[in-house]
Order: sequence, then C-alpha cells, then structure tokens
Amino acid sequence: MLLLTGNLQNKEPDMGYSKEIYRLAQQELDRRRNTARDTAEKHQAEIYSAIPRIREIQKELADSGLRAVQAAIYGGPNSPQALSSLRIKNQALQMERVKLLESARLPADFLEVHYTCPKCQDTGYIINRRCECLEKLLRRFAYRQVSESGGLGECRFENFLLSYYPDIPNQDGKIPRKIMAGILNSCQEYARNFLPNGESLLFRGHTGLGKTHLSLAIAYEAIEKGYGVYYASSQRLLDKLQAKQFQRQAKEDTDYQEMAENCDLLILDDLGAEYSTNFTVAALQNLINVRLTESRPTIVSTNLNTSMLTERYGERSVSRLLCSYRAFTFCGDDIRMIKRMEH
Ligand SMILES: [Zn+2]
Repeated sequence: MLLLTGNLQNKEPDMGYSKEIYRLAQQELDRRRNTARDTAEKHQAEIYSAIPRIREIQKELADSGLRAVQAAIYGGPNSPQALSSLRIKNQALQMERVKLLESARLPADFLEVHYTCPKCQDTGYIINRRCECLEKLLRRFAYRQVSESGGLGECRFENFLLSYYPDIPNQDGKIPRKIMAGILNSCQEYARNFLPNGESLLFRGHTGLGKTHLSLAIAYEAIEKGYGVYYASSQRLLDKLQAKQFQRQAKEDTDYQEMAENCDLLILDDLGAEYSTNFTVAALQNLINVRLTESRPTIVSTNLNTSMLTERYGERSVSRLLCSYRAFTFCGDDIRMIKRMEH
C-alpha cells in the first residue's frame, strides 16, 4: 500500500461544505489513487516475471527519458539530432512493448496507472480548480449525511402531495390545501434561489403536516447546487453538542458545533422536542444567534406554539426567532395518520 497525502490537505475548504465532508471526500480520493497505483504496481510485477524483456524496455525508456531531459537542458550543438534519435529509439521500444503485451493478450496500456478520474489523476484538483469528480464526491457525501440523519432520502417537492390536505375550510375558515399550495410554492422558490446568506425560515404547525418533508426537499436542491447542508433533529444535534461539551474533546473527528454554525444551510428539525436543560437552551440560543449574526440561513421546524416556545427559550430568543425568520404555519390533518389509514 502506498502512503500518499492528497492535495486537499493544504487547501482550506473554500465554500460551503463542512470539514467533515471534505475529509470524507479526501479519504475517497486517496483510496482511489492508492488503488490505481497499487493495481499498476501489481500488473508490473506480474508482467516482469512473465516477460522479463519488458522490465528491460521500461528501464531503457526511463534512461532515454532522462537523457532527453539532459539534452534539452544542457543543449549543445548536437542536441537536436540527439533528441530526434532518442525519439526514434523510444518509439521502437514502445512498439516492442505493445507487441509483447499483445502476445500475452494484454492491452497496450496494461502497465499504466488507471485513475478513476484521468483528468485530475484522482487528486481532486486541476491546478487550483476543483475537479468535477471532487464536486461530485462532495455532493454525494453531503447528501448522504442529510439522508442518514433524516432517514428520509425520498422527500422531494415532486412527491409532496397537496391532495392530502383538505380543500374545505377548517374551523379558522382557512382552506388547508390552498394554504399549503402557497407554502409549497414559496419553498420551491426559496430552494430555486437559495443563497448562503439568504433568509431563514420557521415552519410551524402540528406533527405530520409535512414540515420535515419540505425542509428535506429544500436541502436536496441546495446540495444539488453544491451548498453544504446540515440536517439534524434538535434532540440529535444537542446530544452531539453535549457529548462534546462534557468529554472536552470529541472522540469522533466530526466537529458538530463547527458544522452547525458554519454550514450554508442548517435545518433544525423538531425544535422543542429535545429534552430540555440549561445547557440545551443556551446551546440553541447560541446557535441561532451565531447564524443570524453571520447571516447564514437556518430552517427551524417546531410543533410548539409561541407561548410554549417562550416558556422554553425565553422571550428574547423567541421574539428574535419570530422577527428574523420568515414564518410559515402549516395546516391540515396529520398526513402520517391518513397514509397509515390508506394502507
Ligand atoms: Zn477529477
């Protein structure tokens, strides 16, 4: 196994994704590069023992390459002739190698390193620009993280069904389907025009009205655009933050606090469902404040009404949340119940 350090280590994450996502992407690039080189070494060892002449050819090619470099650097009156005779000799050696490989029924490029991405040779960068293979990996890991924590990888705008919402007025005289169509529309627009310094959203309403579904549909589109999204239920996130706080040093590599504070979009699902302590209240207040101060968007969903929120987090935090976030109140009947009854 070759030990190699990738190019990524020297590069600061320039946008969006958390350090954890970069670490995972780098790990995958290292794995690909090492596998490619290991395979080439293995092929070389096999072929050298089967056809020893190929080892000689490889050596001669390397020597003549070195001589060509010397001729080019030191020049001299004979260097053009020297270079052209070296070139002719190289071509002959390469031809001989192809023939030998052919006779062993092997492809002409059998001894070359076959990178997954030949463009960047699995380093993730072309000069200083991120290669598209790295972009793809970052998106893949970001998306995996969202679906792992949500367990709801299939939530998209396309499968958000308005037909589950009643189209007759409720006791407030509002037609849930009409209200929800408006909310769906606003969320689609938000996702389409998503910006890492855009608005924060507050989804309010009872359980089972599609708050998580729409948050994840937004998350999906933001990730597709290459933004770093961190999704967590408030209980889960607070567990992580608390573990870190009390162990002083996290055993895991992931810095959840850093990720929650700095990702392009934080989705804090089910605020108020967490087990409440002085620590959790302070941690949530701090998180919401940091993100507002830095103008980073957050989507908070909650089943609690204003007075319940105030009781938990204090008037100041709640009024901050209500003033600075664009609020949507979901309505209708519990969709999970309806779905269960349908089956
Ligand atoms: Zn690449």
